[in-house]
Amino acid sequence: MAEETIFSKIIQHEISADILYQDHLVTAFRDINPKVPNHILIVTNQLIPTVNDVTAEHEAALGRLFTVAANVAAQEGIKEDGYRLIVNCNRHGGQEIYHLHMHLLGGKPLGPLMI
Ligand code: AMP
Repeated sequence: MAEETIFSKIIQHEISADILYQDHLVTAFRDINPKVPNHILIVTNQLIPTVNDVTAEHEAALGRLFTVAANVAAQEGIKEDGYRLIVNCNRHGGQEIYHLHMHLLGGKPLGPLMI
């Protein structure tokens, strides 16, 4: 079993975060250090450390990441202008928190790539 992360504590409401949505599969909350005007993280409630650990049994939660991303983008008023979804994996991917999550980034033009 992977060790619990700071995101586990947010999911379990043990530490505070600006939670925008939660169900039994995923939790969406604002990034504590936003890189763009709208920066939201959508996290699987089950602790999957990285994309490398994904299996078929996770497909419902992984699909829900996209459904929630689309709904939150609409709520944030950025769906027409557009946004970017990113999932980082391991060191070269720039992953800091080893609990699978999707970044929803928007609120300004992001350019062709953000690295
Ligand atoms: P990654 O580099 O893909 O692992 O992204 C981790 C993200 O988690 C970074 O953008 C951090 O700013 C964000 N983060 C870290 N701790 C917290 C926290 N307590 N609440 C909200 N976002 C956080």
